Amino acid sequence: MNLDNKVKVAYFCMEFGLHEEFRIYSGGLGVLAGDTMKTARDLELPVTGIGIMWNKGYTRQLIDDYGRPYDNYAPEGQNYKHVSDTGITVTVRVKEQDVKCRVWKADKFNNRPIYLLDTNLEENQDMKWITDRLYMGSSEERIAQEIVLGIGGVRALRKLGIEVDIYHFNEGHAALAGTELIRELINQGYDFQEAWQRLRKKIVFTTHTPVEEGNESHPVENLKEVGAFNGLTQEEMEQIGGNPFNMTVAGLRLASRANGVARLHGITARDMWKHIDNRAPILSITNGVHHHSWVDDRMLEVLFNKNKIAKLHKENKQNLLDFINNENDQQLNQDRLLIGFARRAASYKRPDMVFWQLDRIKHLLEEQKVQFVFSGKAHPEDNVGKDIIAHIVSISRKYPQSVAFLEDYNIKIGRLMTRGCDVWLNNPRRPLEASGTSGMKAAMNGVLNFSTLDGWWSENCQHGINGWQFGNGYVGEGQDEHDLHALYEVLLNEVVPTYYEDRQRWLMMMQYSIKTTKDRFSARRMLKNYYEMLYQI
Ligand SMILES: *Cc1c(COP(=O)(O)O)cnc(C)c1O
Repeated sequence: MNLDNKVKVAYFCMEFGLHEEFRIYSGGLGVLAGDTMKTARDLELPVTGIGIMWNKGYTRQLIDDYGRPYDNYAPEGQNYKHVSDTGITVTVRVKEQDVKCRVWKADKFNNRPIYLLDTNLEENQDMKWITDRLYMGSSEERIAQEIVLGIGGVRALRKLGIEVDIYHFNEGHAALAGTELIRELINQGYDFQEAWQRLRKKIVFTTHTPVEEGNESHPVENLKEVGAFNGLTQEEMEQIGGNPFNMTVAGLRLASRANGVARLHGITARDMWKHIDNRAPILSITNGVHHHSWVDDRMLEVLFNKNKIAKLHKENKQNLLDFINNENDQQLNQDRLLIGFARRAASYKRPDMVFWQLDRIKHLLEEQKVQFVFSGKAHPEDNVGKDIIAHIVSISRKYPQSVAFLEDYNIKIGRLMTRGCDVWLNNPRRPLEASGTSGMKAAMNGVLNFSTLDGWWSENCQHGINGWQFGNGYVGEGQDEHDLHALYEVLLNEVVPTYYEDRQRWLMMMQYSIKTTKDRFSARRMLKNYYEMLYQI
């Protein structure tokens, strides 16, 4: 592996999750991007981030008196304390209007510099809102945000004088950067096809979800109206992204190499996009997490001593229980099994699945033999997701001694939960979970994964040794019933008895969980893979 070859990378992403108080992220995509930028700094790799300075960030989602989530944005202006002004601005065209973007630098979280574009300037008047809220708005509003990220992002790199060998579009949101890179070459005298072909060698793309709606697309007329053509013709735009213009398709056609975010996701993505002509090959590069941000460093030091692992875990569990007590005024029991689940509340993730046949586990909740802590947000416009959260909250109100729901899932809650639970539950409908990095964080802290064989877990699970699987990877008719039955069988016959009756085995499993994940699922390994497999010039 030759990382001396310091290829310079510009890493574009709509969100970056660096710290709980710097609210310019929503979830997994942002946390991955934040972990990547921290790891690039650790490894001294010349990766530069390009993103957006969200003024209000993503929803701060709280629970009302009736047990239903509602959206309440954090006060404006709070994010500015985490950035410094570069003094540079760039201009983009939105709806035939010039929009000025201030460029901020974020580098205070032991990360490689990230340049963030911001339209919140008085002179932008009725265009100030573009960088207000992450993942909100109509198709036209999203396009305006993507113009700022992609087109504005390339212009910022030029004005900052940052050299770039490889442009990494992390998710399709950044695909409009391609129009700017093509336009630059057309201005130098190349025709459209030549410009595109020359550029491809310098663009790589990561796709993140097998869920259809997760792959944003827009009617080409909308792109035209908002100004995303950026000098290209409609025919040229359609050659890149089709009509409707699919941002993932555009990424796959602009890039020369692409990747899915776990071994299984690569396979799923290759199949999902096989009908797209002229697309980049899709490799599998499994995500990884930044140790120092997520893992109790002491766990690695005591890895060979089961009693010390147990002692540290007990401390982490108590921290989580104290937090739950503070937030919710609920007393969970340190000595009883604690199962955690924290995800975006999307229906394919089936967050309330363990309660679908409440009769199977009711006695365990009543006796406080199994305790659960949940967290997660629904997208502000996703009422089905909000219903799911409301259901979980209603169960927590019925069994307050054994079920808790923590509102406003964020990086702090993620850290506490992936350190302090005993078991990390995940039950997505296969094969729709692309990766699932929270499970990696848990595993490295000795929190045992208990999950369907989806995302990263399908390449790491050794059942009964470093965690458990249920459902045997079944896909097909009756999958929900199949998985539900399997979940209860493994929970009641393996997880619960091991916890209460076979302490030595449990400790051994914690040890294996850490050993089998600490290197393989680190962001260090992931970034090395990027350099070896994607960032070749
Ligand atoms: C790690 C993390 C995620 C991503 O985890 P998934 O397993 O993909 O759900 C999302 N949000 C927060 C706050 C995290 O810490």
